[in-house]
Amino acid sequence: MTQTHQQPSNSAVKGVPEVDAVVVGAGMSGLYMLHKLRGMGLTVQVFEKGDGVGGTWFWNRYPGARVDVKSMDYSFSFDSELEQEWEWTEKYPPQDELLRYVNHVADRFDLRRDIKLETTVTEAVFDEDVERWHVRTDKGDQFSTQYVVMATGCLSASKVPEVPGLDLFRGRWFHTGHWPAQGVDFSGQRVAVIGTGSSGVQAIPLIAEQAAELTVFQRTPNFVLPARNHPIDPEHQRSVKERYDEVRRAARESGFGIAVPTPTKSALEVSPDERQARYESVWYDEDNNLVDMLVSYNDMITSQAANDTAAQFVRDRIAEIVEDPETAAALQPHDHPFGTKRPCLGTNYYETYNLPHVRLVNVRKTPIVEITHRGLRTTQEEFEFDDLVFATGFDAMTGALTAVDIRGRGDVRLQDKWHAGPRTYLGIQVAGFPNLFTITGPGSPSVLSNMVTSIEQHVEWVADAIASMRAGGLSTMEPTVEAEDEWTAHVDEVGHMTLYPTADSWYMGSNVPGKPRVFMPYIGGVGVYRQKCDEVAANGYEGFVRRPQQVPAGMS
Ligand code: NAP
Repeated sequence: MTQTHQQPSNSAVKGVPEVDAVVVGAGMSGLYMLHKLRGMGLTVQVFEKGDGVGGTWFWNRYPGARVDVKSMDYSFSFDSELEQEWEWTEKYPPQDELLRYVNHVADRFDLRRDIKLETTVTEAVFDEDVERWHVRTDKGDQFSTQYVVMATGCLSASKVPEVPGLDLFRGRWFHTGHWPAQGVDFSGQRVAVIGTGSSGVQAIPLIAEQAAELTVFQRTPNFVLPARNHPIDPEHQRSVKERYDEVRRAARESGFGIAVPTPTKSALEVSPDERQARYESVWYDEDNNLVDMLVSYNDMITSQAANDTAAQFVRDRIAEIVEDPETAAALQPHDHPFGTKRPCLGTNYYETYNLPHVRLVNVRKTPIVEITHRGLRTTQEEFEFDDLVFATGFDAMTGALTAVDIRGRGDVRLQDKWHAGPRTYLGIQVAGFPNLFTITGPGSPSVLSNMVTSIEQHVEWVADAIASMRAGGLSTMEPTVEAEDEWTAHVDEVGHMTLYPTADSWYMGSNVPGKPRVFMPYIGGVGVYRQKCDEVAANGYEGFVRRPQQVPAGMS
């Protein structure tokens, strides 16, 4: 890393190395942020906890892990050569292919030299006297930096449930979000999986192929649509690449960051036959998308009655596929509207429950009481197994941010400021935390969108904001409390115009005991949100305070 400062600055502590920016995380957001900032002439230090780059695709190596947004959409658009040269193999590429892609990006743009691996940022403290952040890591690094970019991911702080007894368990146990790099052989094993969200839904059929016995402990059944994954037709790939500008533009202007048609009709204004035909086309279409059911009609996430029609369609398919009526009934979701917990895509998911060595246990009815040295005990039964897989998800959206001791003005801790739920302006900055940026932070579309579309938009907006500060000789940027209050209220208000808050979901923080129940992402839509961010920038960063360096006391 070359020390080429463009602007004079005071260092908080003598002898502490200085950089212009520290980026936390070397997943897709961290890598692109590094590339952008370096391109602007900034010195950048990236810290990454893992021993490789890739973020989500580095950690989530469980059997069946693959993205459920199409590869041609779930990829960077910022460099047309990269976009044209990379050949995807499948509609939904598996984890190892995605990890290869991210590594290719790191090499192609020579990013590794500014990334320190196996290093966790533990603390970032804003020193008001010198208007710089003091960053520390678990490896003893200290850096003084003007900007901190948290590229820590929305789903990276994995969560093992608070069930007593795990320390007693004599078998092997794994979390899908922290899977061993060398893989796990389940051949001949008695395996238990707890959790039936997207990770469990992908892993269960493949674990079932290997295991001698598989018991799935399900608390909430999810709506699982068939992925219909398949190799990409080279002709299709070529044609999308030819039209990439148009495809990407449509994605940026869309609701979910994927170019799908905007629905114009209510589900309730069409005949039952027309609705059935539409849902069947989503269910059976080889080229379907994760969001196709949600965008079938314009009131799917706002009207319970409209939503019920889709929910019932999926429940009917489950009843058709699963042979044992009791298991089928247990797999049918009734407690939340379709899409208000993230819909899952599966391959042979429901079919797996027809296998003689696979059993579903409804732990809503008979909760898990404890893990024992040989397995686990529910209120009704004792189970024995060799391996235990937690597919139990993440402390989503805020967990990876509050895991770092971030202290802003007045030594206020981010986690204290967010004790009643995250408060941000645009999901990008927090009042009282100058020059700290959160890529796909709470209050932005993030997890309700194609993550790569949203990552690119945030990285580019943050890079532009920093460039504008530097051009204007400004030292700090942070939102006003009023702008943050208004935006947080707006995120909440728009969220409550939908059915989303009716579900106990990780969008609401419901999966983490004690976490405030707040609808964290922004549901206004990727295109609408981008426009808002662009307007804010065009209006001189409306809602932000941007100031030149304040002369520290005693220095005038
Ligand atoms: P998740 O959706 O939060 O699912 C966790 C599962 O564990 C839920 O079924 C949950 O039940 C269950 N669970 C948690 N604690 C439990 C307990 N104490 N006892 C019993 N069951 C418990 O987590 P995930 O499957 O890892 O997925 C998280 C998100 O990551 C997804 O929604 C998606 O955004 C992303 N993801 C994407 C892909 C992809 O692109 N293909 C793949 C995997 C993940 P409750 O529902 O009752 O809480």
